[in-house]
Amino acid sequence: MAVLSIVEIPDPRLRLVCAPVETIDDEVRQLADDMIDTMYDARGIGLAAIQVGVSRRVVVIDLQERVTEDEEKPEAIRDPKVFINPELVSVSEETSRYSEGCLSIPEQYAEVERPASCRVAWLDLEGARHEEEMSGLMATCMQHEIDHLNGVLFIDHITRLKRDMLLKKLAKMRKNAA
Ligand code: ZN
Repeated sequence: MAVLSIVEIPDPRLRLVCAPVETIDDEVRQLADDMIDTMYDARGIGLAAIQVGVSRRVVVIDLQERVTEDEEKPEAIRDPKVFINPELVSVSEETSRYSEGCLSIPEQYAEVERPASCRVAWLDLEGARHEEEMSGLMATCMQHEIDHLNGVLFIDHITRLKRDMLLKKLAKMRKNAA
């Protein structure tokens, strides 16, 4: 178990199309464990492997972190889920909007419109295939993470004007922190 450092924009690795996992071995299990530690440490609700610099199709999500984000989170109520090679099988025509953020674009948020629900297929760490209909925050989070596997960021879904404003704010924040 280890907390890894998070890749931030404009790192070009965030634009890579990640390779599918062929074999779920100890290396993949270790990666998933480390990603979960990293996600909790950064207080995120989802993380894709490329965000720790590994170009593989692995995603971890735990929406519970959002519920008690201002408190110390007892490990007992954590519920991390690992998704290997997740794929969108179908998406709804109906859309919804969420204010999204991303650990690779620190402290910046924007409303993103996406399909309100989606059907997702993936493998678990034992290699078993799952398929599930997702809605609400889970659907949004999963689509955001699958985007990462294809080199897409949430700022690609907003207008150029909003994106420029957000990037300016980020640059200012980084300058002040330097
Ligand atoms: Zn993200």
